[in-house]
Amino acid sequence: MKDILGRPIKDLSRQEWWGIPRREIKWYPQIDYERCIGCGVCLITCGRTVYDWDFKNMKPIVARPYNCMIGCDTCAKMCPKDAILFPPLGYLRKIRDNAKVVLKARQKLLGIKKNINSLE
Ligand code: SF4
Ligand code: SF4
Repeated sequence: MKDILGRPIKDLSRQEWWGIPRREIKWYPQIDYERCIGCGVCLITCGRTVYDWDFKNMKPIVARPYNCMIGCDTCAKMCPKDAILFPPLGYLRKIRDNAKVVLKARQKLLGIKKNINSLE
């Protein structure tokens, strides 16, 4: 299956993020349609096929919210009308801490270091 730009659509909603089911994390864009001018920048710049397009109203649709990368807000930054909303940074930090991301990342690197040292 492909999106309207011909890019393959993957379903990333069943993946886990640092041990948390993706669907339990409410990180995805929401569109303020009053502000949106239908430029299409969000659809085209998102590399995870989160968006589809409503050609009747010439507006984006958040079709696959759980494909959105946790922590990414590129489309919101690129939107010329600030019409894309994400949860506050505090929410992101809370799920980061709940998932023990800092500890796990550090442990992963230490594990790689151990493997490298054992080869030397
Ligand atoms: S980038 Fe912003 S203004 Fe443009 S279509 Fe998307 S939400 Fe609407
Ligand atoms: S935040 Fe990133 S991954 Fe999520 S919809 Fe926007 S561009 Fe796509």
